Amino acid sequence: MPSSPIILWLRNDLRLLDNPALFHAVQTNRPIIPVYIEQPGGPNNWSRGSASNVWFAQSLRSFANTLQGHGSKLIIRSGSATEVLRAVTQESQSDTVFFNRYYEPYERHTESKVESLLQSVGGKLQSFRGNVLLEPWEIQTRNGQPYKVFTPFYKAIQTTIQAVQPYPAPTQIISPDQWPNSLTVEDLGLETGLEWESSMMQHWISGEDHALKTMESFLREKLENYPDGRDIPSRPFTSTLSPYLSHGELSPRKVLHSLQSMLVETSDPATIAAAETFVRQLIWREFAVHLLYHFPHTTEQPLNEKFSRFPWNSKPDDLRTWQRCETGYPIVDAGMRQLWQTGWMHNRVRMIVASFLVKHLLQPWQDGARWFRDTLVDADLANNTLGWQWVAGSGADAAPYFRIFNPVLQGEKFDKDGEYVKKWVPELSKLPSKWIHKPWQAPKEQLQYAGITLGTTYPEPMVDHTFARERALAAYNSIK
Ligand code: FAD
Repeated sequence: MPSSPIILWLRNDLRLLDNPALFHAVQTNRPIIPVYIEQPGGPNNWSRGSASNVWFAQSLRSFANTLQGHGSKLIIRSGSATEVLRAVTQESQSDTVFFNRYYEPYERHTESKVESLLQSVGGKLQSFRGNVLLEPWEIQTRNGQPYKVFTPFYKAIQTTIQAVQPYPAPTQIISPDQWPNSLTVEDLGLETGLEWESSMMQHWISGEDHALKTMESFLREKLENYPDGRDIPSRPFTSTLSPYLSHGELSPRKVLHSLQSMLVETSDPATIAAAETFVRQLIWREFAVHLLYHFPHTTEQPLNEKFSRFPWNSKPDDLRTWQRCETGYPIVDAGMRQLWQTGWMHNRVRMIVASFLVKHLLQPWQDGARWFRDTLVDADLANNTLGWQWVAGSGADAAPYFRIFNPVLQGEKFDKDGEYVKKWVPELSKLPSKWIHKPWQAPKEQLQYAGITLGTTYPEPMVDHTFARERALAAYNSIK
């Protein structure tokens, strides 16, 4: 008699390489039914945003093709994970579900519901390491507490990540005698057909194949420029791996392993230093997962409780002006346009625009986080929460609140010639670099020559920097 199939419950792990649940399922020599379930959104806007939905739809198609190439099939369903898994196990006479762990609060809650359900019907559930180098509970301070400061976390993690070994991709996946019914990707309604979606996706190809290609070309061609180039938003020297890592089309262990294999063949100190800088960023990602796992309330509440008394000045109009890229600060508007048009924004500019929203405009960081979550193709609850709380000064190891970015100086430092601004705010492109980050200070004739009428072709600054700085410091002093 043929053995009963294993249900491989997939979420943010649509990949063959270094997929622990898939690897172990294949090792059993039993048929495998890969199932993706589109669940109704969780509370507090934890569900996928619009940009990620579009990305994910393409990712599902890509993974379905990959599985087909391996003689398998992706079964797509929608509904609550418990209901669907109950139905699929019954339909396929399976008693076993394998899955990779997912550390977001709502997903953990779902996992425990699935576990209770399977136990109640005598089924077996096996979970495996998710998209991390290290499980969030595998590392703690000497006092047995979760880490809240990055550097000690970074040091502590070093020994564990010396020689990671990703799981190989399976060559063949055994099919069941009969496949359960499946929806199509279109049935899930992740794409709305808006022009915004297709123009945004012109910048990307989702899926595991392209994730691997992007990683390889980064390691081969860009890594050496990473330490100096990673803070210059007009330069393409960061990896742009974030959407692939966020959606689990690429595992961090695979990235680290590829980097380590490359380093074996070099003794060049510059390459080794560049690799260290890059690994540090991957560890920030681990730190974010660690924090979210241990402090799940931080998606909405400040980690530093002092900030729960912060006098935000919530104004929907100000939030909208920021979202619409009309602040009048070119580096901020350029970043927000890059986000809107490509679903991605350079890290340096993420810090600048986030700081502008929470400090210059005193808008709650949660509003900014929600906008990012909706518009980023790499939206990731852990990284986004960490990033926003860091900028707001309320998070782990956060930027000191009193260090308030001056958007003009930030622009002049990291976009010296205004290349980034000129690309995303072309209406300023004829302005000499000297004025590109402060057009309101440019002489009249320069503005005229550049075809700019402030307040008409490009906005006046929505708030004065000195006033905003003092207001933010006063707000901070009130909670000190
Ligand atoms: P690289 O510089 O090539 O770094 C490699 C990888 O390391 C990234 O793909 C990412 O997975 C990780 N990484 C890099 N920087 C950080 C960081 N500061 N924190 C955590 N992980 C990092 N990143 C997301 O993936 N999703 C988000 O929703 C997100 N929201 C953010 C919000 C704010 C306000 C800020 C300041 C940062 C946010 N980041 C987020 C972190 C960072 O900006 C992006 O990961 C990075 O810009 C992605 O580009 P890259 O892949 O080229 O990065």
